[in-house]
Amino acid sequence: MLALALVLAALQQPAAVPVTLPPQVGDTSPFRRLVLAAPGLMREGSGMPGPRYWQQRADYTIRASLDTATHSIAGAETIRYANNSPDTLRYLWLQLDQNIYKASSRGASLNPTDARFAGRGFEGGYTIEYLRAVRRSGQAAGRIPLATTLNGTMMRAELDRPLAPGGRAELELAYRFEVPEHGSDRMGREQFPGGWLYEIAQWYPRVAVYDDVRGWNTEQYLGQGEFYLEYGDFDVAITVPRGFLVAATGTLANPLQVLTATQRARLARAVRSDTTIAIVSKAEVGQAATRPAGASPTLTWHFTAKNVRDVAWAAAANFIWDASGYDGALIQSFYPPEANPDWARSTEYARHSIKHYSEKWFRYPYPTAINVAGPVGGMEYPMIVFCGYRAGDRGLFGVTTHELGHEWFPMVVGSNERLYAWMDEGFNSFINIYSALAFYHDATPQGRGVPAQWAQFAASGQDEPPILAADRVNPRLLGQIEYNKPATGLYLLRQHILADTARFDAAFREYIRRWAYRHPTPADFFRTMEDGLGEDLSWFWRGWFYRTDVVDQAVDSVRTRTDSTGTTAALFLSSPGALPMPVDLRIGYANGAADDVRLPVEIWFQGNRYVYERKVPAEVVKVQIDPGQNFPDVRRGNNVWVKP
Ligand SMILES: [Zn+2]
Repeated sequence: MLALALVLAALQQPAAVPVTLPPQVGDTSPFRRLVLAAPGLMREGSGMPGPRYWQQRADYTIRASLDTATHSIAGAETIRYANNSPDTLRYLWLQLDQNIYKASSRGASLNPTDARFAGRGFEGGYTIEYLRAVRRSGQAAGRIPLATTLNGTMMRAELDRPLAPGGRAELELAYRFEVPEHGSDRMGREQFPGGWLYEIAQWYPRVAVYDDVRGWNTEQYLGQGEFYLEYGDFDVAITVPRGFLVAATGTLANPLQVLTATQRARLARAVRSDTTIAIVSKAEVGQAATRPAGASPTLTWHFTAKNVRDVAWAAAANFIWDASGYDGALIQSFYPPEANPDWARSTEYARHSIKHYSEKWFRYPYPTAINVAGPVGGMEYPMIVFCGYRAGDRGLFGVTTHELGHEWFPMVVGSNERLYAWMDEGFNSFINIYSALAFYHDATPQGRGVPAQWAQFAASGQDEPPILAADRVNPRLLGQIEYNKPATGLYLLRQHILADTARFDAAFREYIRRWAYRHPTPADFFRTMEDGLGEDLSWFWRGWFYRTDVVDQAVDSVRTRTDSTGTTAALFLSSPGALPMPVDLRIGYANGAADDVRLPVEIWFQGNRYVYERKVPAEVVKVQIDPGQNFPDVRRGNNVWVKP
């Protein structure tokens, strides 16, 4: 009835004669919906993978040997590639990451010689001996050489016949490369008194990801941007000098051949142990008795791994090796005697990390988790991470819990690291906050994730949007933009914007569950979170991840009026920063009392000024915004009003 009366009233008003056209504006509010790729049956509006979701698969068999005289690796590899896409493929792209160490590479131009992600002047790269298709039956059975085109760290292989939807291709190739000493701080080798220690990764040609959003993902490996890989099963055999120990992604398939009876017994005990057990003690390092008896100068270590996106390994003659167990998984550390003595706690740190992330977010799915000390400062691979051998104390805990956190992002949740570093580095840095809080029983985060600290950086004007592809971020700011900012944003969302940790955790767990072993995009994450949280967070995703908008909340003035119903205070608030936030207010009265009030972010719907009215018990003498300093406010000077 009321609605009808309003309509009639409007109709009865005399028609205005416009002299000029009225202003015509679009929605420019920070609250306008974030525009994301149209949802469909592949990726749904809820953020779920849809009923038509598909993903390619690549299974690998690799036979490789390490020549310690020339520091080179020679390998033969079979890739079994399953085309689950609806497309007929006529070529595949392979990733030849070692080609970053060719003198003419784009990465060599991009990184100063001494930069972290450079090769420090090393010249190497892959030599591909052959690449051919394997035909197992029919008239054309045999090996068919494939034509290839090299494009830097990518190589296009022309298939000998089109690969139809649902079809499989089997390729085999042989390759070799010299291991750089400093492999972009992701792999390499270092000489210790006991000999060379090798950390081997990006060590076999890998098929690029073909997906629904971009087709072939052919971004060059430039050093700073990490990886985007398909899932598959691996069967890997690595031949090394007899005196070496090998740590690798996967389950050791031939312990009888490469371990002593004593080591096998110790490992069997360790996997059931909460505390660390020596497999090769410091006193035993380099002793002949640590290697099985035999005449051959080499041993071949055989590993198998299921449903992983990569394989890496480390080898040295002088490893101390210890282990424990958690939930059936073998937790292991390998470190040289020259490592910081705190490495004796590495397995304890690793076990805490795997247990903490398993209990809080998603159960660790793999049979082992390994921390290796070596020249690489911190780098992650499925089931195995490389952490700097000089690291100790909180630094060693921090790098260990960070690299092992990557087992969840991106090893389980297989996002595109090269395009969206914030989806692995940022999400991982976020879960690291709680791992450290749990280990050290700290009350508040140390280092990353502190909104007030972030505000200081943002106020410096150096901020960049985390949505930038990893290689486009200023290398000096990578840690701030792709690690700290997204981690701080999620911490802020969980602790202070929602201020509902259970609701956040349920939604974040659902994101991991939905996208485990899959390839989520930013839209899949934003949608899944909104779906689970029951919130439209367009304003937050846009301001925090796509832009460099800052938070600046202010109390401009306070007025009071008194009538027969009592005293009412009008608090004139503003939000001159482009990024709106909920407002936490503390209102102080002349009688010494105070009220804490939370105003929702929706108060800024009509613009960046808002008047909050409230009945007050006494004269208002002070109003403070965000007294807990929970929000990343870049100008705190305007947060407080004091009665003049
Ligand atoms: Zn990382």
